Amino acid sequence: MALLEIRNLHAKIQGVEILKGINLKIERGETHAIMGPNGSGKSTLAKVLAGDPSYEVTDGEVFFQDRNLLELSPEDRAREGVFLGFQYPVEIPGVSNTYFLKAALNAIRKYRGEQELDAMEFLQLIKERAKSVNLDESLLRRPVNEGFSGGEKKRNEIFQLAVLEPYLAILDETDSGLDIDALRTVAEGVNSLRNEERGFLVITHYQRLLNYIVPDEVHVLLRGRIVKTGGKELAEELEESGYALFEEAAA
Ligand code: ADP
Ligand code: MG
Ligand code: MG
Repeated sequence: MALLEIRNLHAKIQGVEILKGINLKIERGETHAIMGPNGSGKSTLAKVLAGDPSYEVTDGEVFFQDRNLLELSPEDRAREGVFLGFQYPVEIPGVSNTYFLKAALNAIRKYRGEQELDAMEFLQLIKERAKSVNLDESLLRRPVNEGFSGGEKKRNEIFQLAVLEPYLAILDETDSGLDIDALRTVAEGVNSLRNEERGFLVITHYQRLLNYIVPDEVHVLLRGRIVKTGGKELAEELEESGYALFEEAAA
């Protein structure tokens, strides 16, 4: 059974259909990239997978391991091991990074019938993981993402990944103009966390990100449909020819 299997997914927001039949299968250990121009539905796909209630799924199915993902609450999706990057860059005033992660991790462990970590074990874990992703320890005590720079938010996202150890990480590299350092942070973090169990879905319109995170498959999303799937060379093709080629084919 695949790690993630999306079949004919349709979704709308405020009566407008944005996703028009997405099919996508990610096996354990694979990294897939979704690329597409602005407005093609990339973030919509991420939000639908996250269970954002502002979207209505009108057709199709999504399986995560052996679970019907669309039937799970956003919290249970996380507990099953789906990590959605963009959920976390929100700022949470008054809640320290450490506190937030401890609650998140222990909720996951409890759900899986594992023992919660005590304060000492948890502290040891986050110190070790912070070090492994080069996160400055001072960020652990600060309220989640509050006043963090773009790069610090990205590093924090990767840190959260390293602590929560999801089976599937969906990273939406939104249009917030990440600089090359932030892209490298994401890439190094993702690469260090890739293993034979874990899958990644990296959503981006930065071709250069895929010079650092070499994906197993690249999908081109255009007007709510995947119009082309290929290997890493597809990203290079896009860099050269843009989306015009696919626009014509899709029209
Ligand atoms: P991407 O991440 O690929 O840039 P999005 O998924 O953010 O694209 O947006 C896809 C389309 O959905 C866009 O055309 C956008 O205008 C539209 N959209 C997003 N939110 C709403 C909304 N609340 N009502 C109507 N259309 C929306
Ligand atoms: Mg956009
Ligand atoms: Mg987007």
